[in-house]
Amino acid sequence: MPELPEVETIVRSLKPRLLQKKIGGLDILLPKIIHTENIKPNYLIGQTIINISRLGKNIVMELSEKCCLRIHLKMTGQLLLNLHGDTILKHTHVIFYLDKGRLELRYRDIRQFGYIQILTLNEWDFQRKNNSLGPDALEISFPAFLAKLRTQKRKLKSLLLDQSFLSGLGNIYVDEILHQAHIHPENSPQNLSTRQIRRLHEKMGNILQAAIQLKGSSVRNYIDASGEQGRYQTEHQVYGRAGLPCRQCGTHLKKIRVSGRGTCFCPYCQRLPIKG
Ligand SMILES: [Zn+2]
Repeated sequence: MPELPEVETIVRSLKPRLLQKKIGGLDILLPKIIHTENIKPNYLIGQTIINISRLGKNIVMELSEKCCLRIHLKMTGQLLLNLHGDTILKHTHVIFYLDKGRLELRYRDIRQFGYIQILTLNEWDFQRKNNSLGPDALEISFPAFLAKLRTQKRKLKSLLLDQSFLSGLGNIYVDEILHQAHIHPENSPQNLSTRQIRRLHEKMGNILQAAIQLKGSSVRNYIDASGEQGRYQTEHQVYGRAGLPCRQCGTHLKKIRVSGRGTCFCPYCQRLPIKG
């Protein structure tokens, strides 16, 4: 699933090419991809794209008539920018016609778990303030992160994956961040010192920035809006490396399940505190 660095890469590649472009029309080939309560898809026609941003794993395209598209790629969603006449790939479900039909923004999704939500700006504001989306993992300050963690007793792996707690992280980056911070995935914030939480926050920022620099991790079918793969997968220290030696200490990495999610960690670098 694309996580924060991959979604950020997509936003950065789309932004310069989509700003100020007018939606001339759209084709919805698979209606279930479009989620909307109050706005009919036809209302989008004639509107101009005035901003593209990201919150966690969500891509938000703001349009000229006080509404926006919130796009979530989930497992296998892709947003591709094509020229008119380019081959339409199988599993393309929605096409936006832009720039007098010369440019096409296509939503493609093999597993069909992703969606495009059409929202008024008020509805989008409500979603953000209603705590269904936690603060962005790249934006959150250390004091805010510390204060949030101090209220929690859950295992860190499940906590950091919870998008209502913190937006943007998924299985790959949570495992990488916990490894670099030397924290066991089943440890709870209650057992962490302020210094350890500071290290966790710092590693989170560093790893996300480094991954954005390399345009994300291409595992499964991730590509950016120009069809390019990321390169951060070669930097992974733990994700996908169970059984291989830890690059920091040489101990064989282990894979366990934490709250139902496969989790790779180093039993030496990431130890649980001794109870008692
Ligand atoms: Zn190690």
